[in-house]
Amino acid sequence: MIENLEYIKKYGTGKFLEREVAKWRCSACGGIICCHNGLCFDCGLDKLRQKKHKYCWEE
Ligand SMILES: [Zn+2]
Repeated sequence: MIENLEYIKKYGTGKFLEREVAKWRCSACGGIICCHNGLCFDCGLDKLRQKKHKYCWEE
C-alpha cells in the first residue's frame, strides 16, 4: 500500500511496525485482538462464545 510506504519513509520501519501492532491491541484491556473476527481474546471472550460464526466478521 502506498500509504504504508509513505509512512515508513516519514517515520521509519520501527514506527510503522509499532502502528501495525497497535491495530491488534484491544483498546479496553490491551489484550490481543483475534485477526479472524476482531474480538479481544481477553475481554471479548463472552462475546465470542455467543457468536454463531466464530471465524467471520459480523456487523
Ligand atoms: Zn480486551
